[in-house]
Amino acid sequence: MNLRLSEEQKMVQKTIKKFVEKELMPLENEVLRNEREGKPSLPPGKLEELQLKAKEAGFWGINTPAEYGGADLGNVMLAIVYMEVAKTFVPFKFGGSADNILYYANEEQKKKYLIPTINGEKKSCFAMTEPSAGSDTRNIKMTAVKDGDEWVLNGEKTFITGGNEADFVMVIAITDKEKHKESNGREGVTCFIVDREMGWRSEYIHTMGEWGPAGLVFENVRVPEENILGGLHKGYSLGLEWIGFARWVVGARAVGAAERLLQMAIDYAKDRITFGKPIAERQAIQWQIADSAVEIEAAKWLVLNAAYTLDQGEDNRHLASMAKLFGANMGNRVVDRVLQIHGGMGYTRELPIERWYREARLWRIYDGTDEIQRMIIARNLLKGHVKIGQFI
Ligand SMILES: Cc1cc2nc3c(=O)[nH]c(=O)nc-3n(C[C@H](O)[C@H](O)[C@H](O)COP(=O)(O)OP(=O)(O)OC[C@H]3O[C@@H](n4cnc5c(N)ncnc54)[C@H](O)[C@@H]3O)c2cc1C
Repeated sequence: MNLRLSEEQKMVQKTIKKFVEKELMPLENEVLRNEREGKPSLPPGKLEELQLKAKEAGFWGINTPAEYGGADLGNVMLAIVYMEVAKTFVPFKFGGSADNILYYANEEQKKKYLIPTINGEKKSCFAMTEPSAGSDTRNIKMTAVKDGDEWVLNGEKTFITGGNEADFVMVIAITDKEKHKESNGREGVTCFIVDREMGWRSEYIHTMGEWGPAGLVFENVRVPEENILGGLHKGYSLGLEWIGFARWVVGARAVGAAERLLQMAIDYAKDRITFGKPIAERQAIQWQIADSAVEIEAAKWLVLNAAYTLDQGEDNRHLASMAKLFGANMGNRVVDRVLQIHGGMGYTRELPIERWYREARLWRIYDGTDEIQRMIIARNLLKGHVKIGQFI
């Protein structure tokens, strides 16, 4: 067992760190200013410009297979990269990528959707959640009814990340009501690739975070048969696969953000004098720093194990739930302590802590809430799907 990064991995980490410090962190004040004024965090075209700079540094398609021109870094390296990028709140993501489930596309669909998405010419979103079905994904109501060579989609999706900007959506709908009912929602659902031009519309949802998801409305949207993704009635497992990837990534983001926040708290505690001494000399502050450091480290190893397990081709869902549950909660505890250590300044919009505080709250909700992760972890253990201490 080797618990250290290889020289090559260290080099990738160093390069990303440099990119974040040189290209992203200097934009932080501008991002805060824009958001305070109700404008988009980054001006139009800026994300694409940053993505091209990252490309010059060799970071394009970081999780994209080499046959599609990607760097295909592997999941452990992805985790390291996500942690580094999360050290800034500047909303950045690397170019050259597509959602994991879009690789189930057939040859025609690859030409029409996968390749343009990887090339940055098209934007996608994924829609499972409905007003009456969030955690309870088996309770979706959206229907797709066959009519000749087309399927007619009716229903509503909610909280869809990127739904306002997307050119197409990968949407889950019921295609066989009987099967859906008999299987308690596990079967009889299908994933469709639906272009915006086919007729769905999106509505912005305001949240306590800085960028809102969308509600999507489908009223008799006609979708050609050839736009089924991954096969008829295969939608439920595709949905779970999409969510499964996002889970440990949330943990990785929480680790990166928490590391940066803790450093801010350490710097501030050394500087801030009360009653004649830096607050860093008070045990009350030291314990908050120590607890945060321990929890960050624990979350990091959970995330890395989830990523490593996936790289071995093994089922990482149990670990992904653990990484998400612990990482998201760790992130919330750390940002709260860091805000507390900064006192009144922590609560202002002069500093980005309050922004992270609002963002961190989402980590405990999307891609499966805390309660759902606990349910999965307990079920795996109680039913014997996973043994205690299995993943080493
Ligand atoms: C900003 C944002 C972006 C999102 N992006 C996407 C996206 O891109 N695509 C997509 O499909 N979805 C997306 N979601 C939806 C997200 O995954 C759901 O909000 C989440 O799964 C919770 O569902 P819900 O909001 O319906 O809450 P509910 O399922 O109604 O849950 C309400 C509360 O009850 C608890 N609860 C529910 N069931 C149980 C149970 N059995 N036992 C104990 N407690 C329970 C929950 O944990 C929660 O605390 C997004 C959500 C947000 C807020």
